[in-house]
Amino acid sequence: MILKEIDGNDKLIERLEYLSASGNLSHAYVFEGDSCVNKVLLADCFIKAILCEENKGDGCEKCITCNKINHGNHEDIIYVDADGKSIKDEAIEELQSKIKKKPFFGDRNIVVIKHADTMTIRAQNRLLKTLEEPPQGTIIILLSENIENLVQTILSRCVVFRVNPFETFEYGAIKEQAQLLVKMLFNKEAFYLVKSKLNEFAEDKDSAMKLLDSMELIYRDLTIINTKESRNYRKDYIYKAVELIEEARRDLQRGISTGYAMKNLIIKIGG
Ligand SMILES: [Zn+2]
Repeated sequence: MILKEIDGNDKLIERLEYLSASGNLSHAYVFEGDSCVNKVLLADCFIKAILCEENKGDGCEKCITCNKINHGNHEDIIYVDADGKSIKDEAIEELQSKIKKKPFFGDRNIVVIKHADTMTIRAQNRLLKTLEEPPQGTIIILLSENIENLVQTILSRCVVFRVNPFETFEYGAIKEQAQLLVKMLFNKEAFYLVKSKLNEFAEDKDSAMKLLDSMELIYRDLTIINTKESRNYRKDYIYKAVELIEEARRDLQRGISTGYAMKNLIIKIGG
């Protein structure tokens, strides 16, 4: 995934694209967003945009750098995370010795501190020293749920960005497919038509699972929202559909073939 595939954060993405393309980078950033926001994914996208060999400012998903980042094994990227409930002083000490070394692959080390809020005060004070005199080229990205947990002296040395919840393009596409299927089933369209759409959308277990999740959300929304369309759906129809989706999910988990589980689902919802 690359920066421009993240939605719900247009201004922020534009800014990150500009910063990474221009190379006009600070040495420390904070991404603040709720726990449900995938800040690691955003950080990885930002790093791709900075380091990508083919497409600076966004990333290409093809070069060695993008591949390594996707596999979490880029030599110059150091991830720090809480050990138990907190990030301790020793973890930051270890980090400091790592970033003193020259980058292995490119010309800068990049650090991602997950759950930065959990740094102990000692750890934060130690990190502060690095932020005051960062090794050449180093970029430190702190991921935080609430910046109030970070000491002011750290915040004053970072560029802070607030991250909104986002859906990925992939998720958006699945949602559209699920909406189409829900509608086709409700309209009792011919079995072979629904079946051919399903074959297209749910090629394997993984895509079938995502499609089922998305369909279930749509059905559940129909019970909450009150629109001209939602009023067409009777509650017992929706509850039955949700039950059948859960059954299909269990079937898939039990190892029943995707084709069979999904076919079974549409026959039962349609019937
Ligand atoms: Zn690339």
